[in-house]
Amino acid sequence: MVDEATLRAVISEVLSGLNRAAPPAAAAPAAAPAVRTAPAVVAPRADGRLGVFSDMNAACEAAQGAFVRLQKHGLEGRAKVIEIIKGLCTAKAAEWGPLEFAETKIGRLDHKIEKLQIVKLVPGLEWLRPYALSGDHGITLEEYTPFGVIGAITPVTHSVPTLAGNVVSMVAAGNAVVFNPHPGGARCAAVAVRAFNEAIQAALGIEHLVCTVIEPSLQTFDQMCRSEAVRLLCVTGGPGVVQAAMKSGKRAICAGPGNPPVVVDGTGSLAKAAVDIIKGASYDNNLLCIGEKQVFVLEAYAERFMNELAAAGAAKLTPGQLDRLTGAAFTTARDAGGCSHPVLNRKLVGADAAVLAEQAGTRVGPDVPLLFAETDAEHPFVMEEQMMPMLPIVRVKTFDDAVAGAVRSEHGYRHSAILHSLNVDHMTQMARAVDTTLFIKNGASVAGLGLGGEGYLNYSIATTTGEGIATPRTFTRTRRCVMVDNLRIY
Ligand code: NAD
Repeated sequence: MVDEATLRAVISEVLSGLNRAAPPAAAAPAAAPAVRTAPAVVAPRADGRLGVFSDMNAACEAAQGAFVRLQKHGLEGRAKVIEIIKGLCTAKAAEWGPLEFAETKIGRLDHKIEKLQIVKLVPGLEWLRPYALSGDHGITLEEYTPFGVIGAITPVTHSVPTLAGNVVSMVAAGNAVVFNPHPGGARCAAVAVRAFNEAIQAALGIEHLVCTVIEPSLQTFDQMCRSEAVRLLCVTGGPGVVQAAMKSGKRAICAGPGNPPVVVDGTGSLAKAAVDIIKGASYDNNLLCIGEKQVFVLEAYAERFMNELAAAGAAKLTPGQLDRLTGAAFTTARDAGGCSHPVLNRKLVGADAAVLAEQAGTRVGPDVPLLFAETDAEHPFVMEEQMMPMLPIVRVKTFDDAVAGAVRSEHGYRHSAILHSLNVDHMTQMARAVDTTLFIKNGASVAGLGLGGEGYLNYSIATTTGEGIATPRTFTRTRRCVMVDNLRIY
């Protein structure tokens, strides 16, 4: 466990590091980006206690034992675990958010904290109502039952929130879970895992319901996939890990990559569209997989729309500044066929707008949430899932062109798309063309996760394999129980 004094030191170091990184308002362009100084995060010891292991096979076995014990506690036991996870995420958000920020060094501290505070919105047991049939031949009940142990992969973009959301859904469904977290967020994940198990053990006497390894690697991923105890995989991440999981031979629920396009057709309020787009695209410095990544705007409204973006606080880059930033944000590589393609510079993923501005050869204040620049439709900032608070704006002649650009830049991930329009025909046309899991109209992308729109939250959106936003039902097997010619009461 990290003791309180260490935690306080980490938080104060991170906060002072943030203050140091803030550039003066009207200084000259700087050559190098501001570097975030953050202390190393102290992880719990991988001593095989309370869910934190060095050996993946031992973690999987321990989770199997915990699954058997959870069954004995029934639905009441699951409800208690959910209460514990949600309660800890709320209570510890101000401690764990800075830990995750210090370890991953990406995104925004206030949003790291908020993403933990809202874990309470992830659905629980209420999603597991059985389906019943009653007829001349008796009664049939279909129940949503657990798999056993689930092997889960989490992204560096939201390590503890994804882990916590997964635990709520998976345990609500009666499962135990083993994590192979992203190596860049494995320490804060272990801190949370230990705290969860400590509280679960105190309440139910189960020590290893949530397991993790302290040094995740491709080898531990492989061991997890091969473990006989692991009955199902749940992957939240980019294309590489989705492909690896789908080749593993185990069933995998895959919450894969996105590159959400936005279309602005000018029929609605441009000022509102600008505010909504800034809200979604700047959230945690655009690390969200659902976050607005590129905008297609009809040319008749493009100028006014960009003025509204600036009026709402975003900063526009000149073509020269965009070129400089593009040179820093992407390198070029050749694939096996000799074709060159852009490769994202991971060091700028989730960086502050002020840091990106420095790379572009300019300065913006620390309160500027988002940069934007006009680009063509083939620009790397449009076509790559760049996860930076820098929004490319593409002018198009017609709505058809806008939809075509949206579809092309989304790459068939079928993840998320956003439209600002009052034209119902346009809504229908774009919905059919993009065919995405989430399609948000007239709101920020986060409205698609119940944050400003109707609905519920989770951090795993099973786009690739089609289950949608994860719920407890996602992690169940449907089993049918039949009584022939009996039990019917009329
Ligand atoms: P990433 O793909 O680099 O890593 C995700 C996880 O997979 C990590 O735990 C990593 O260690 C592991 N991994 C990566 N390649 C692997 C391989 N070949 N074999 C085994 N394990 C491997 O992604 P990231 O940078 O951590 O997260 C960002 C990505 O995740 C983006 O593409 C984003 O869209 C996606 N994402 C999707 C959702 C969703 O719900 N659909 C949610 C969050 C993030």
